[in-house]
Amino acid sequence: ATPTTPNLATVDLKKSFGGVHAVDGASVTFHHGKVNALIGPNGSGKTTFFNCVTGMIKPDSGSVSYLGSDITGKAPHRIARAGIGRSFQLCRVFPRMTVMENMLVAVRSTSLRRQLASSRDPEELDRARGLLARVGIEHLEHSLARDISYGQQKLLELAGVLMGDPDTIMLDEPAGGVNPALIDRIANLVRSLNAEGKTFIVVEHNMELVMSLSDHVVVFDRGRPICEGTPTVVQSDPRVLEAYLGI
Ligand code: ADP
Repeated sequence: ATPTTPNLATVDLKKSFGGVHAVDGASVTFHHGKVNALIGPNGSGKTTFFNCVTGMIKPDSGSVSYLGSDITGKAPHRIARAGIGRSFQLCRVFPRMTVMENMLVAVRSTSLRRQLASSRDPEELDRARGLLARVGIEHLEHSLARDISYGQQKLLELAGVLMGDPDTIMLDEPAGGVNPALIDRIANLVRSLNAEGKTFIVVEHNMELVMSLSDHVVVFDRGRPICEGTPTVVQSDPRVLEAYLGI
């Protein structure tokens, strides 16, 4: 990859469910080293786009490349290994495991998860504790995930993503259902991780957060981008207003 290689790029990506064209010919470029946002009305295909990119579902056609390498249709663990980590819209943690167990399973493949949840590797435990401290929930290490607040579960999920040391982090609605104090904490984490070189691609409905956090915004409508640019440019584009108002 050269300095001008985009972080993530799709060309004419398509995915339908029955007759619904969820992603409908999306050609999008996200900038390396930046905080990118993907916004758009409900049902515009953002989550399906994330799922196609991260290998959770296979696109019907089109291509996805990461730092110049083709990753189209590859399995999720291979895409993770290539350097892309992601969180989910409806936070994914294991409710009956402790916070620490969640951290330790975050980096393992599904089949081995449970038996490997208690690591004896002191370095791994240290790393997990360091990341829990970074997101501010180290005091909850021994709590069951189901007993901590939803916002804290989101922070746990993010810390788990960081366990894989991804270069690029895709967040699906990080602020959804989270109280304002925790939204600030998540925003500050994104800023500091970005300052350390991590690229972000964030789907988020909280416009104030999107506009304050992002360098580059892509707006989806009906499964494809209709506008992109800086927050200022996107905010004043009439097509964006139209898409949100459903005109
Ligand atoms: P967004 O994340 O922007 O809200 P989605 O990607 O969730 O949009 O959905 C885009 C469209 O695809 C919607 O019309 C949704 O109902 C449809 N869709 C998404 N996933 C499925 C699925 N698994 N089966 C059928 N339809 C789906």
